[in-house]
Amino acid sequence: MNRAEPPLRFTGNFTQQEAIPQDAIDAAIAVLQSGRLHRYNVATPDELSETAELEIEYARYQQQRFCLACASGGYAIQLALRAWGLEAGDPVLSNGFTLSPVPGAIRAVGGTPVLVETTKDLVIDLEHLEIMIQQSGARLLLLSHMRGHLVDMEALCTLLEKHGVAMIEDCAHTMGATFNGRKSGSHGVMACFSTQTYKHVNSGEGGFLTSDNDEMMAKAIVLSGSYMLFERHVAAPAVDVFEQIKLTTPNCSGRMDNLRAAILRPQLKALDDNGRRWNERYNAFASQLRQNANAIAIPQRHPDAYEVPSSIQFQIPVLSDEQNTAFLEECAHRGVDLKWFGAEEPKAYTSRYDSWQYIEAVSLPNTDELLRRLYDCRLPLTFSVEDCATIGSIIADVSNDLLSN
Ligand SMILES: *Cc1c(COP(=O)(O)O)cnc(C)c1O
Repeated sequence: MNRAEPPLRFTGNFTQQEAIPQDAIDAAIAVLQSGRLHRYNVATPDELSETAELEIEYARYQQQRFCLACASGGYAIQLALRAWGLEAGDPVLSNGFTLSPVPGAIRAVGGTPVLVETTKDLVIDLEHLEIMIQQSGARLLLLSHMRGHLVDMEALCTLLEKHGVAMIEDCAHTMGATFNGRKSGSHGVMACFSTQTYKHVNSGEGGFLTSDNDEMMAKAIVLSGSYMLFERHVAAPAVDVFEQIKLTTPNCSGRMDNLRAAILRPQLKALDDNGRRWNERYNAFASQLRQNANAIAIPQRHPDAYEVPSSIQFQIPVLSDEQNTAFLEECAHRGVDLKWFGAEEPKAYTSRYDSWQYIEAVSLPNTDELLRRLYDCRLPLTFSVEDCATIGSIIADVSNDLLSN
C-alpha cells in the first residue's frame, strides 16, 4: 500500500435499515384512521383484517397451508414448542451456535436444551447430532438456521426420520431462502420467523409461525390468544379441529396487530428482490475478503442452498489474542463495526453458549474453536454494493497489515 495515501475509512451506519415503503405507510395510516387495530376488530363479519390477509399471503409465500402472525419470533418458537406438545423437563436438541432467543424459548416452555456442535461452515454438525439424539433420547430438534447458513436439509431429514425425531425450524435468518428449490421452513413440522427490525422484513417487532399440521396449528392459534374467535383465521385448519382442543389449550396472548400487519404486507412483495440485493452486497464484500484467502476463511454454502445473507461471517484463525484485539480496534477506528462471537462477555447481539447460564453447562470444543476467531458484520440494504466492497477491503487490509508485521 502507498504510505502517502490515508487509510480507507467507512462512515456508514451498520444498524440503519431502509425506510418503510410509502405504500406500507399509506396502509398503516388507513388502519389508524379506521381505529380497528386489534386483529379481531372487523367492521362486518366477512371483512378480513390486515392480519388475516397477511397470514394468507405469507402462507402462500411459504407454500404452507397455515400461517399465524404473532408478537415476535421468539414467541413464535415458544408457541411451536408448546403446540408440538413439549412438556416440562423434555430434552430439545438445538444448535450450540445460535442466538439467545433459541435456548430462551426452550427454557420458557420448561424444556431442557441439548446443544449440538457446529461445522466450519457454521451449520449443525450431523454426526454430533446423531450422537446427541442417542444420548439424550430427545424427540425434537429446534433447528436454528443461524446467520442464514443452511445445512444439507435432505441429509438432515433422512437422519431425523431414521431416529423418529421431529423438527421445528427457526428461520429468523432464512426468510426467502431455499434448499433444492424448497422454501426454508418447509422441512419440519413447524417453522418460525421474525419480522423484527434487524431481520428480512421490518415491523419493529413481530413473528410468523407456519405449518401444514392441522392439530398443531389449531393449538398454536388458541395459545396465541384467539379467544373463541379462531374462525376469523383463514390460513388455518377447519373449525372442527379447534373443537377438539379449544377448551384444553391455555391462552398465552401474543397476537400481532393490524398496524404491523399493514406495514408488512407491502414488504412481502419486495422480499425476493431484496434477497437478490443482499446477495449482491454479500458477494461484493466476500470477494474482497477472498483476496486474503490464506488468512480469512468464509463459510461455504451448500451447492443446493439459496441463502439471503443480511450479514456476513468470517474467521481469521491465525490471529493471536493480541492481534485479535488490535484487529477489532483498527477496524472500529476505520468505521467498520464488527461483532466478535468469541468475546468472554456477551455484548449486544453476540452470545456464546457458555453465557447461557440458565441451561446446564456443556462443552462443545469444535464450536469453541470456531467462535474463538469468528467475526460478524451486518449488511443493511442502506449500504450500496460499493460500500460493501469498501468494508471488505478495509478488513482485508487491516488483517494483512497485522499479519505481515
Ligand atoms: C432474532 C432471532 C430470533 C427471535 O426473534 P425476535 O423477533 O427478536 O424474538 C430467533 N432466533 C434467532 C436466531 C434470531 O436471530
